Amino acid sequence: MPPLPSGRAGLCHTILTPGVTPAQQPVFLSAMQAWENCYPGVTTMTFQPRSGQPGYLHMVVASLGFSGDQTDSVAYNGGEVTMTISPNAVSTFLIAHEMGHALGSWHEQARNDRDTYVTIAYGNIASGFSSQFDKASPQGTFGPYDYDSIMHFGACFFSACAFCSRPNASCDTVQVVSP
Ligand SMILES: [Zn+2]
Repeated sequence: MPPLPSGRAGLCHTILTPGVTPAQQPVFLSAMQAWENCYPGVTTMTFQPRSGQPGYLHMVVASLGFSGDQTDSVAYNGGEVTMTISPNAVSTFLIAHEMGHALGSWHEQARNDRDTYVTIAYGNIASGFSSQFDKASPQGTFGPYDYDSIMHFGACFFSACAFCSRPNASCDTVQVVSP
């Protein structure tokens, strides 16, 4: 996740649906706090409950019919942006990642300069998922490439291997370019 331009402040009005499980409640809160605290001294992001604002983030807990989570818009669009999280998702990483999309971030490895830093092993990607590795173009990039970004795919994401684990060049979908 690249840093936002200095001096920018963000305010995100949110609705959390009643379907959030007791186990998920603290995870949603910690994911919001992670974004609120991620740019100390640079910018601020604050989540507040919605009270009639036309633009807001709607966090829904619902089954999607597939394993994963989704956001229907990358970035604020002036209206409702919906992110949907599975009822069994209790990972701060996963929920904060989806919030990142809703707040306007593409995947780190979608940067136009990504080939300097990672190689996408298209031959190892599960059938039908190659587009997940597209570059987001045109896309602004801020700051240095961040392998540890919460918006970066893991080495095994969308691997064709049933049990991909690092390091395994025959299964990895994202491989680090040697400096
Ligand atoms: Zn994502």
